[in-house]
Amino acid sequence: MKKALIIGGGFAGCAAAHQLELLGGYETTLVESAPFLGAGVRTNWYGGHPYTFGPRHFLTPYEDVYEYINKIIPLRNCNDHEFVTYVERDDDFYAYPINMQDVKSMPDYDKIKIEMEEASKNKINGAVQAQNLEEYWIKSVGKTLFDKFIDNYNKKMWLVDDCKEIDTFNWSPKGVAIKDGPKAAWDTVISAYPYASNGYDDYFDFSTKNAKVLLSTKIEKFDIKNKMVTIDRNELKFDIIISTVSPDILFNEENGPLKFLGRKIHNIVFPSEFVLPENVYFLYYANNEDFTRLVEYKKFTKHKSKNSLVGMEIPTIDGGKHYPLPFQSEQKKAQSYLDQLPTGVFSIGRAGTYLYGVDIDDCIKQSFLMSEILKQGGQDSPVPGEEYRFPEMKN
Ligand SMILES: Cc1cc2nc3c(=O)[nH]c(=O)nc-3n(C[C@H](O)[C@H](O)[C@H](O)COP(=O)(O)OP(=O)(O)OC[C@H]3O[C@@H](n4cnc5c(N)ncnc54)[C@H](O)[C@@H]3O)c2cc1C
Repeated sequence: MKKALIIGGGFAGCAAAHQLELLGGYETTLVESAPFLGAGVRTNWYGGHPYTFGPRHFLTPYEDVYEYINKIIPLRNCNDHEFVTYVERDDDFYAYPINMQDVKSMPDYDKIKIEMEEASKNKINGAVQAQNLEEYWIKSVGKTLFDKFIDNYNKKMWLVDDCKEIDTFNWSPKGVAIKDGPKAAWDTVISAYPYASNGYDDYFDFSTKNAKVLLSTKIEKFDIKNKMVTIDRNELKFDIIISTVSPDILFNEENGPLKFLGRKIHNIVFPSEFVLPENVYFLYYANNEDFTRLVEYKKFTKHKSKNSLVGMEIPTIDGGKHYPLPFQSEQKKAQSYLDQLPTGVFSIGRAGTYLYGVDIDDCIKQSFLMSEILKQGGQDSPVPGEEYRFPEMKN
């Protein structure tokens, strides 16, 4: 038996544990610093309502990933979902992401039309060349739509004073395509959520049932080059390591710490059966409010109650390593760590790849990829690439 260590018991770590079980031949230890598996995807309860930390909507273009998870924890189809953005300047709600049907209904459509026609000249093979997020969007859709939907939202999302500070475009490499109508953006994705009232929780136990799971456990020392770690003063050596934590931790931050943003979630119970209109799962706010979006949890969970629980997401400097930053300087730093990973050490998951675009389905997809590499006798961490990513409509 080969000895495998998994660092972190969030979705990526649990999915990796299951893939090793399916491969066979591994004695797997999973180390999780929290007292539970699943991290923010785990279901909690407030006022009798089940909820996760943020929506944790299962949204995927990958049929194999959907089939896989649906067999373990059956998923309810949520393709009726509508996401809506409030634009104060128009005092109106528009479907998210932006679509032409809504654009044509805007009070300043004549101006937007001219700007969009101008912008279309910037596209070469459907893509625009730009140095930063502001330039990218203005060149793609014009200044008015940028001001209404993108500017304030991204400033608060990434806690920057200016969208010019955002200088990577991992999540939208091919240029912005505004869809025809409100539903068109979701044609190619499966939208789902577990039927079970405890959401994804059973998956975490199922996927790790063959692993030795050490909860509330801290790794005292990393010697990643030799695939060794120290736990409880014992030096342990492994044949493979799958890390799902920020890669700077593995190298004692020798090139500097990687920056992340956190999230605060305010949970509010409302004294009405539903708060948002039928089928509206999220409300995005594109203005000066501190929060980015509201989610009405029961739209996903179908929890029955005379009240409704709404979560409000507020970006914070601290409050958890949730959002890797889309700044070239940080991305380069992350790469400097990932480049040092020796053969037999994989770094997957959102923090592990330092890619904001990595969602639940991508964590599973990465575990498939890792398994494929191991099956073929390889030992090298997959280089984060386009197959991990999905355009800007994801959470
Ligand atoms: C607010 C919010 C809402 C989201 N909503 C959605 C959504 O609707 N749909 C969607 O698909 N995705 C969503 N995502 C993204 C998705 O949930 C995450 O990308 C995914 O769950 C990440 O899983 P992970 O295993 O990579 O990381 P994590 O879930 O962060 O797990 C990492 C684990 O490692 C542990 N750990 C950290 N350091 C150490 C250490 N030194 N030793 C041991 N353990 C350690 C942590 O405690 C944690 O359990 C959302 C993310 C956030 C933050």
